[in-house]
Amino acid sequence: MLLDEASIRRESEHVEDHIKRWMTVEGHFRILTALSTQMTQDAISVAKTSPLVSELYGRLLTGSALLQLAQSPIDRVQCSLDHSGTAGTLLADVWPGPCVRGRVEHAQSTQAPLYGGDGNIHVSRQPARGGELYQSVSPMHASSVAGALQHFTMESEQVITFISLATVVDDDGQVTMSGGLFVQALPGMTDEDLSKIKGCLAQAEFEDLVVAGDHPFDASAAIFNDVDWIETGTDPILYRCRCSKQAAVGAVRTLSSDELAAVRAGATETVTCEFCGTDYIVSAVDLDAS
Ligand SMILES: [Zn+2]
Repeated sequence: MLLDEASIRRESEHVEDHIKRWMTVEGHFRILTALSTQMTQDAISVAKTSPLVSELYGRLLTGSALLQLAQSPIDRVQCSLDHSGTAGTLLADVWPGPCVRGRVEHAQSTQAPLYGGDGNIHVSRQPARGGELYQSVSPMHASSVAGALQHFTMESEQVITFISLATVVDDDGQVTMSGGLFVQALPGMTDEDLSKIKGCLAQAEFEDLVVAGDHPFDASAAIFNDVDWIETGTDPILYRCRCSKQAAVGAVRTLSSDELAAVRAGATETVTCEFCGTDYIVSAVDLDAS
């Protein structure tokens, strides 16, 4: 059997998701492209989403990671979509890395419309080591996750931004490809630069190319074929819940003195992670352990 170089490359890239950053040579636009197939697969395995909800959830996690890396790479960024579709509230929680986790209100929903209608996008930003929390809410104004994130970014940052997201899930619920494109104007952008970038984006839609089977990096390269750009860096993107037994013990320590006395006398407290659903059972031994 012959394996061509591209398929070998894709096999290895599947294992290692990452985000590539580029800038146009004049420095007037930056372009981020994410390959997030494994991250999305890990996230949906935890959330146990239906295939259609997985497509939404993968897009939100990927888009939120791109937003965090582009705008606030040292912050914790949460993006939540509150809407009237049957999937219910979708939340992405992104930490520096980007390390991503999230949750879905109605993970198993299959009934249309899963997403959309009236609603709000909530975005919060806080230094990962703690500090002031910035929160903003705005109406969604879009029928897609990418559209909601794009609209929010344009409104809040007052910067021209294009976002396109694609998560492809097969009938067995496996993620066959996930990725995203984030394009943003930088200070000094001219009308000429803007019309060139818009021209590229008008020729082909990143989401359509990826859904049709293109690798996300190939889709970006095809869209911006006529643009001179330089690669400015690469970052990993991965799914990771941040819960731990230690954090659960810390939470139990904040209970009332009566409840703590009950644990010391032999009762147990179960602390459930609100993101991944892991149960941590805390007993007197754990309270004394550290
Ligand atoms: Zn967890």
